[in-house]
Amino acid sequence: MSSAPEHLAAPVGDRDEPTAGEGILRRQAQRESAARTYARSLPVVPVRARGMTVEGADGRRYLDCLSGAGTLALGHNHPVVLEAIRGVLDSGAPLHVLDLATPVKDAFTTALFETLPSALAEHGRIQFCGPAGTDAVEAAIKLTRTATGRGGLLAFSGAYHGMTAAALAATGDTAARAALHGAEAQVTRLPFPYDYRCPFGIGGERGAELAARWTAHLLDDPKGGVQPPAGMLLEAVQGEGGVIPAPDGWLRRMRTITADRDIPLIVDEVQTGVGRTGTFWAVERSGIVPDVMVLSKAIGGSLPLAVIVYREELDGWLPGAHAGTFRGNQLAMAAGAATLRFVRGNALHERAETIGSRMLGLLRGLAAHHPCIGDVRGRGLMIGVEMVDAGAEADDHGALPAAPHLAARVQREALHRGLIVELGGRYGSVVRLLPPLTITDEQAEAVLERLAAAIEAADAAAPGAAA
Ligand code: PMP
Repeated sequence: MSSAPEHLAAPVGDRDEPTAGEGILRRQAQRESAARTYARSLPVVPVRARGMTVEGADGRRYLDCLSGAGTLALGHNHPVVLEAIRGVLDSGAPLHVLDLATPVKDAFTTALFETLPSALAEHGRIQFCGPAGTDAVEAAIKLTRTATGRGGLLAFSGAYHGMTAAALAATGDTAARAALHGAEAQVTRLPFPYDYRCPFGIGGERGAELAARWTAHLLDDPKGGVQPPAGMLLEAVQGEGGVIPAPDGWLRRMRTITADRDIPLIVDEVQTGVGRTGTFWAVERSGIVPDVMVLSKAIGGSLPLAVIVYREELDGWLPGAHAGTFRGNQLAMAAGAATLRFVRGNALHERAETIGSRMLGLLRGLAAHHPCIGDVRGRGLMIGVEMVDAGAEADDHGALPAAPHLAARVQREALHRGLIVELGGRYGSVVRLLPPLTITDEQAEAVLERLAAAIEAADAAAPGAAA
């Protein structure tokens, strides 16, 4: 890392010169799968990182608002995380233990339960899953299918829950497949309230209320075509869907609708958890208590870890119902426990709320001068800026068409200015900010300055932009 203070990290070097990382990038393009993702839009070869600063092999430094797709609550290589990892390494503890009990796991579970809504902490169970969020989602669906004997699943437009839905369907073990109840294609898709692009054309509380009514009506309609559901799976703030916060009232309605019909409510907090949205868990804002919570990303303190926690009444599955070799990552549990304790002890969720609100306000100010910004939204430090085609005609609710090329240009221009941002949402047209909860005021200012300049440059380069 160069000697410049981390909080003022800025790009160094001339981007037109050949760089040390070029060979690595060239070999990556030759050897890695066509399915690679971030590597395409972010041609960075990280060699060092601290806090929210990443240094590339070419010596350029970036402010990282991707944070491992929302994983790094404390940024890169936070001292308490490194200390926790070193503690395990120096203790001689085994690194691989399947799902055996260890002091490290015991401490992680205690730290996690201390953060949970009390109804779950007091009467909850935890299942350690394979290390990715998607595996925990699979576990949650399997758990509720086993508990209810029902095969259907309620899920929402814009939802993202992972990539392994087909894994078990492709498995030959008939006993293991029984947990699917033949349910590979039994998802009922429900409307998620999306203010800017309201499916009912009205937005606001009324739009969310209509979405809730549609859900309740469909569930009660004997000819509605809904496969009896094992559970309702939702994100309190959709991340990959485009940073779309669910209104608190709508979440409470989903809680009532599911409770009244004996449908377990599964909340996927993989991305929203550990302070990111301004409360420790996103569900706390609305006060709802889910029957199952799916947790990953930040709970491993930058290392792979995924669990579900759930009401003990659901715990009817059999030993081995959701197994996996890598359910005992001791380093991740130690790093995760340290992260949970640090976020809680320093009330970083409150900090996320304060600084996130300030950033949202400033971005809304920016949007007032840039018609290509259709919407600015978020909760805490989960922020989205939806890029639109300002030259096109608005729909009858005032929304302009998505502008994916413009968003991609903003991402490139941001990178040139030393800022890493993520894209998501419909057509990849939402610029997403997921900075660490440790972001300083100065860093937040630098992020917004670079983003504003990137938007200006991208907009000016857009076809049809005024000369
Ligand atoms: N759920 C949500 C809400 C997510 O955002 C993600 C990943 N972005 C997942 C599940 C899947 O997690 P993973 O990529 O670790 O499988």
